[in-house]
Amino acid sequence: MDLAVKWMDTDFLIVGGGAAGCYAALTFCKHTKGRVLLAEKANIQRSGCLAAGVNALNAYITAGKTPQDYVDYARQDAEGIVRGDLLRTMAEGLNRTVSTLESLGLTILKDRNGKYVARGTRNIKINGENIKPLLARAVAAQTQVTVLNEVNVFDYIVKDGRVWGAYAVGVKEPVLYVLSAKAVLCATGGASGLYRPNHPGFSRHKMWYPPFNTGAGYAMGIRAGAEMTTLEMRFIALRVKDTIAPTGTLAQGVGAKQINALGEVYEQHYGLTTSQRVYGTVQENLAGRGPCCLRTEGISAQQDLDLQKAYLNMAPGQTLRWLESGQTPRLRNVEIEGTEPYIVGGHTASGYWVDTDRQTTLRGLFAAGDVAGGCPQKYVTGAFAEGEISAKAAAASLTEPQVLPDAQEVQAKKDWIASLFDSRGASAETDALEEAMQAVMDEYAGGIQTQYRFSEASLQTADKRIGELQQRAKGLKAAEPQEVVYILELLDRLTLCRAVIAHLRARRETRWHSFAEYTDYPQQDPAWDLYVNSRMKNGKLEMVFRPLVKEQDRYEHFH
Ligand SMILES: Cc1cc2nc3c(=O)[nH]c(=O)nc-3n(C[C@H](O)[C@H](O)[C@H](O)COP(=O)(O)OP(=O)(O)OC[C@H]3O[C@@H](n4cnc5c(N)ncnc54)[C@H](O)[C@@H]3O)c2cc1C
Repeated sequence: MDLAVKWMDTDFLIVGGGAAGCYAALTFCKHTKGRVLLAEKANIQRSGCLAAGVNALNAYITAGKTPQDYVDYARQDAEGIVRGDLLRTMAEGLNRTVSTLESLGLTILKDRNGKYVARGTRNIKINGENIKPLLARAVAAQTQVTVLNEVNVFDYIVKDGRVWGAYAVGVKEPVLYVLSAKAVLCATGGASGLYRPNHPGFSRHKMWYPPFNTGAGYAMGIRAGAEMTTLEMRFIALRVKDTIAPTGTLAQGVGAKQINALGEVYEQHYGLTTSQRVYGTVQENLAGRGPCCLRTEGISAQQDLDLQKAYLNMAPGQTLRWLESGQTPRLRNVEIEGTEPYIVGGHTASGYWVDTDRQTTLRGLFAAGDVAGGCPQKYVTGAFAEGEISAKAAAASLTEPQVLPDAQEVQAKKDWIASLFDSRGASAETDALEEAMQAVMDEYAGGIQTQYRFSEASLQTADKRIGELQQRAKGLKAAEPQEVVYILELLDRLTLCRAVIAHLRARRETRWHSFAEYTDYPQQDPAWDLYVNSRMKNGKLEMVFRPLVKEQDRYEHFH
């Protein structure tokens, strides 16, 4: 197949037009007259975590609370392994981003006095089905911004440790894009599909996190030698069984408690952090006291109706299931289970190691949202806040004369992508390797099958087998551009799997039950009050250990 090469030039390249990417584009336009190129794999109208809408903004400083309260909460939930500076700067921006979204047309529920309706102590309720189209419309209205939809970014343009753009391939057209820029923001979200999901086989893409967020941003960074942090802190969502619908609306909306099959409330017994809620459910099932549920039986008819409406906004399948079975939550408790593990820096602390301005260890490259590490509990508004911080810093950094990639390097990328095309194609083989990777991670790197537990020996096996799959993946071929993207996604996931395994091995303790359950080291150990980081040098991942950073500090890299 003929592969065209298209060069595009900009001041600020944003990779990924989700929550953080779109908000960064809007912020950048407020602060400079520079050009923005937003490269998105899908279409920014409906892409990423916000594609289907959300019904609450999970991170908000409610009346009587302060940003420091939010920092304290996130630190406690992550058992201390957070970057105080990142959490503080994110928390200080939360409410500002909500005002911006409201001015763009987002409906935020208000009480009779005009105050936002809080759900619990950190959330506010919204009608958020249209949150992504609203953002996309605001971005499209900026004359400085060019949106390039349906391109899959797969590698950075790097010169002397500085990033000058990225390479992408068309999802539908056989085109290699050379996107050169003075500053780049990675906002590709987290990674799904590394582990065998609750619903394998034909339904394997029915999962909690968007199946299109395949960890490209992490993998590109790892390959380019960027430092990564805390990949061992995986995220496992506690979900409604079978539908994978969120449970927060039940727990916070109607105060539903986690109960075992004997009707006993077990959540206090194991603790109330996000990981402990999953761990408690796993333990109750192992002890033969499952299935576990959220106790909703007996809620009022109004609460029942409110729940059905709330789920229509974010997980309509759940409402349909209740209606179709006639067993709405007031009549039947809602069964829960843990998902497979994900890497997602908006919920846990995994991702790029950034300075306080969200610049990575590669100069010229910033990271925001779920792909950026050190700052858990970001959710939508935290991703916006990080988009804002990084875009402001990027806008202030555009002073150096732009460097273009060598013609030889571009030719080598072109040759490699062209070599993946073969008119006979082989996408079935790509699928088979994806399933093999998920099986290895499930069985040997702490997936659902082992109740999220792993050992040094099992991780060694996982690393060896993923390495073998990386070798086999070198022979993959594709007939169509979309199939090339599938191959690139698999390669990214395999790269990330090995990094996750290395991180799981390196932290020799069990700090977060279920999220990282190391059977050789079952206790938490204060000697591990530090960040486990990694960076790739000459094709090998090196571990780096760094002391904790407090919220009053300003963290800078020393390149
Ligand atoms: C099911 C679900 C429900 C949630 N509910 C809530 C809620 O109710 N309230 C709340 O506050 N938070 C919620 N969150 C969390 C919140 O939505 C996310 O934390 C936030 O949207 C992350 O923003 P992001 O920009 O990092 O990622 P995303 O918004 O996912 O954006 C990433 C973008 O990058 C693109 N991309 C990926 N790879 C590439 C590539 N190689 N090249 C080009 N583009 C690429 C993707 O297509 C996507 O558009 C929820 C998350 C999920 C998954």
